[in-house]
Parts: sequence; structure tokens; C-alpha cells
Amino acid sequence: MRLLIIDDDELDRMAIRRALRGESSLEEIIEAENAAQAIELLSRQAYDIVLLDNSLPDITGFDLLSQLPEHIFHDTSIIMVSGDEDINLATQCLEAGAEDFLLKSEVTNRRLMLAITLACQRHAMKEEIRLTHEQLRKLAEQDSLTGVSNRYFFDENLRLSIARAKRNNTNMAVLLLDLDNFKNINDTLGHDVGDRLLRAVSKRLEATLRTGDLLARLGGDEFAVLSTNINKPGQSHLIAERLLKSLDEPIIIDGKQLPVTTSIGVAIYPDCAENSEGLLRCADIAMYRAKKEGRNRYFFHSEDLQSEIMYRTQIEWDLAQAIKNKELELFYQPQYCADDHHIVGVEALLRWNHPKFGLLSPDRFLDIAEETGAIIPIGQWVFMTACNQLKAWQTQFSLADQPLRIAVNVSDTQLCDSHIMEIVKQALQESGISPHQLEIELTEAAMIQNPDTTASTLLQFHDLGINLSLDDFGTGFSSFVHLLQFPIDSLKIDKGCMLDIKTDTKKARFVRSLIKMGKEMEMSVVVEGTETEEQTNYCRDWRADILQGYYFSRPVSASDFESLLRKQLQKENETPSPKKRDD
Ligand code: C2E
Ligand code: MG
Ligand code: MG
Repeated sequence: MRLLIIDDDELDRMAIRRALRGESSLEEIIEAENAAQAIELLSRQAYDIVLLDNSLPDITGFDLLSQLPEHIFHDTSIIMVSGDEDINLATQCLEAGAEDFLLKSEVTNRRLMLAITLACQRHAMKEEIRLTHEQLRKLAEQDSLTGVSNRYFFDENLRLSIARAKRNNTNMAVLLLDLDNFKNINDTLGHDVGDRLLRAVSKRLEATLRTGDLLARLGGDEFAVLSTNINKPGQSHLIAERLLKSLDEPIIIDGKQLPVTTSIGVAIYPDCAENSEGLLRCADIAMYRAKKEGRNRYFFHSEDLQSEIMYRTQIEWDLAQAIKNKELELFYQPQYCADDHHIVGVEALLRWNHPKFGLLSPDRFLDIAEETGAIIPIGQWVFMTACNQLKAWQTQFSLADQPLRIAVNVSDTQLCDSHIMEIVKQALQESGISPHQLEIELTEAAMIQNPDTTASTLLQFHDLGINLSLDDFGTGFSSFVHLLQFPIDSLKIDKGCMLDIKTDTKKARFVRSLIKMGKEMEMSVVVEGTETEEQTNYCRDWRADILQGYYFSRPVSASDFESLLRKQLQKENETPSPKKRDD
């Protein structure tokens, strides 16, 4: 054993040495005269026993005890030695970590050796308990798969770090990482490979961090980094870049190269939020944005992003109530015969009278309805409302023999839904309109995503007599093969194609060839987005069948559409219809 005597009184030190003379278990006895010397010695090497006098020239033994770094107590048993029989002091010393309290008057070989033996035993027991605690703590704070910190430890640290950052007026960053397409690895290569990959990823991520940064696995393929030593918020982009870069090289498992990437969301304290839940939520939002933007990238949470997410959350919530609260409405945009400019059809376009945001057009909420599945009941409502409305106009204006057709849009989600046939049939049945008077507008997305189901659904619609129109043609895929594969009756040329046809001759020729191709394939050609007289004449001259656009009318409410119809019928009654063009 190595023993350190800390005592300013040379006679007392000699007395201790004398009392311990001949003890073979004591390999070395070193002396320090004051606290400064003692700290110096203790910092250089470990001692098994320290005999610490309470009255030192620089500070008291008790004060020194309280200042000793934590690790000294792991290696060393400390016995206080004092000239005063002070019970309070003895208790305080024991509470501060000393193993025993000895009066100088008691210093004899027997008493000292007994104190040393007991102190060593007590110390060993305390160490054992401490180590068990340490192990338990590790179990509670460490992720058992990867060995990095777990969610509990991260959350605790985040809370403490926020409190510290608040006190010191500093910044910190929370980076949330979610591996891209990790599910595929688990699904295709099994969970064992998945686990090994997660371990390898943790190692790579950990290697990029600076001291003080904390990496934790929050669960599944989600990791988080807490960086408390950033001077400026922008600095955290460097951490994000390093993390992304650490996964540049594929991970090799059983000789197989597995490319891994991650999406990272970054939130800064105090800019984004001032509490741990808020920071994590912001990082999560940013991470989803990174995914949406194409994965393998980082995204900073910002105020704009935050309000976008709040908007989305509100829309998601309110959308579920919109039908019940009668907030949905259909607007109707007339479709005109290109030759004589009389109304031959009408497209039903969805609007939402949102209690807070006012009248919303579909681009403000349709994406969210698709994601949440709300599009299915909404779509059902649209079919019912549109068919009933057409029936009401037919009755009101005695249109039974007029070819007024109503067009309803369906998204790919709706088209692939197993209830779509049922929904459409029910709308036809309940309204009593003929299937020939209903047109379904679909886009190529469904044909690409799920060609077999779409083909069979479209065939059933076709067999019922429903007109099928391919919407937004001329954008996206615009594959001619789709026109052959699916029973499409009408081609609806997208409004984007109409822009600049006056100045852009290439574009004008493009529109011309689309119309021509549709006609060649014996389809009815509808041109959408005709805004000017020139565009209207151009499409008519190139033999489009039907025109729809602001030149004639914007989408209007049911009652405004009624007025348009009434006006047209009055005109028809007053004047004979214009002569049709000769084909
Ligand atoms: P869409 O089916 O291509 O509908 C035409 C869109 O173009 C409508 O926008 C219409 O207001 C707009 N538009 C019509 N003429 C012109 C024009 O001359 N110039 C310009 N700049 N725009 C014109 P809206 O009503 O905002 O609808 C947007 C899209 O939302 C629709 O595009 C359709 O894909 C979708 N949508 C609308 N209602 C429904 C619905 O009930 N169900 C589903 N699934 N989708 C719908
Ligand atoms: Mg449409
Ligand atoms: Mg369209």
C-alpha cells in the first residue's frame, strides 16, 4: 500500500511514521506539509491511504477534502486526523467522503492499523457499490445495441444543457438523424444485418464528433447529436456536413457493400425553441423536410418551416371535420364547344370554405388530404355532390336531351382505392344521372403506379359508359403508350402548354401536334387554360373539340354557373345557333 501523510506539523508526521514502522503492507510513505503540495502529489499518482490533518496552513483538511476531484475518492481511502474532538467536524468529514476520523492523541500502531484496515475494507465495499451503480447507470443510459447513449440519457442531457445555455447565454444545436431507406435493409437482408449496420453507423457518426458533443440512438434508425459548443448557430452546418460525409463510403458487411445515407434536421437553441420538447420537435420537422427534399441532406428548422408545419397540422385536423361541418363546396368551370362556344360540359372543382383561412383552392389542401387518406371520403362527397348538382340543373332547365356532361377529378390514390367503383355507382344511382353524363378526369400518375388495377378499374368505368378523360396531358410523362393501353376517351391538354404559344412557335407547334395526335386517335380533345381570344381561335383552328379557360369563365359557384346556363338557354331561344364549321 502507498500512504500519504498530509500534515504541517513535522512532529506529528514523525509520530505517525513511528507508529507504522515495521508494517510490511505499507510499501511507501510520502509526506505533504500543506494542501497545495498534497494536491500536487495526488494529481501525479494514486495513493491507497491518505492521513489528512484537519489543520493545515493554507486551507483546512475538511476544505481540501471537499475540493478533491471525484476520481481521487475512487482510488483512495481517506482518514481524517484531528487534534480536536469535534463530533460535528467528524460527521462532516465522513459525509464529504472520509472513511474514518482519528484523534491525534489516539495515534498508536494498533489504532492506526485498525483504522487503515477498516478504512480499506469500507472503501472496497463503497467502490463495489459505486461500480455496480455505474454499471446500472450505463445499462440505463446506454443503447445496448450500439453502445452510444440512449434516449433517456440524451433527454436528460438536453434538459441540463438547455439550463446551462440559458445561464451562460450560449447557443446549442440539436441534430436529428434518420437513416434513409433503412427499412429496405431490414426487409431484404434481415434484422441481423440491420443491427450490424446500425452499430457500424454509430461508430462512423461518433468518430466525427468533437469532445463535448453527444451522440445518442433514440430508437430504430434514429440518432441524435447534441452540440453544446457552438459559438454561432450557423456553425452547426459543419457538424451536419461531417455527419453526412462520414457515411459517404458504403458500409461493408459480410463482404457486401451497403450504401447508407441519412437525412438530418437541425434545430438551434434558443432560435428555434427554448425547451427540449420544442427543440426536438423542430429538429424532427426539419428532418422530414430533408427527407422530402430528396434525402441524404440536412435541413435547418426555420420560422417559415415552422409555420408551414403548423398550417399543415391545422389543415390535417380541420380536414377531418370539413365534410361534417359542410365547409366543402364545388365550383364549376364551364367547358365550351370550340366551334360555336356553347356550354357542353362542366368541370367540378373542389373548394374549401375554411373557417380561419377563407376560401381555399385544392393546391392548399389536396396534398395533405392525399397523405392522410381524407381524400377518399372527400372524393365520395365530390362525386355525390357533382352528380346531384347535374341532376338538379337537368330538372331545373329541362336539359334531359342536352349533352351537358359533368367532369369529376380523381387522384391516383382515389383510383387505386378498392371502393372507387362502389362510390361512383352509388353517386350515379342516387342522383339518377346517366353514366354518359359523367366524365372522370384522371392523370397518368395512377397508370404508372398501379397499371394493372388502374386498367381493370378504367375498363369497368368504360363499360358502364362513363367518359374517361386524361387530364394534364402535355406535362409529366405524356406517354402515348398509356393512350393505347387504357380506354381513354378524351385528351385534356394541360393549361401549362397554352402559356406563351403566341410568342413561342415551338410551343405552339407542340400544342398543335398534341391536338392532332388526340384527333388521330379518335379522342375528343379538350384544351384547358385558354385565356385569350388568340389562344381560343388557335385551338379551334387546329380542331380541338372543347375549350375551358378564363377566356370564357373562371370556375364559379353553383348559382353563378346556373346564371351562365340560363343566359345561354335564353340566347339559344332568341337566336338560331351559329353555323358549325365544316370538317
Ligand atoms: P385540373 O383538373 O387540371 O383543373 C384545372 C385547374 O386549372 C383548376 O384549378 C382551374 O381553376 C384552373 N384553370 C382553369 N382554366 C384556367 C385558365 O385559363 N388559366 C389558369 N391559369 N388556370 C385555369 P383548381 O380549381 O385550383 O384545381 C387544381 C387542381 O386540383 C385540379 O387541376 C385537379 O387536379 C385538382 N382538383 C380539383 N378538384 C378536385 C377534386 O374534387 N378531386 C380531386 N382529386 N382533385 C381535384
Ligand atoms: Mg381536371
Ligand atoms: Mg388539368
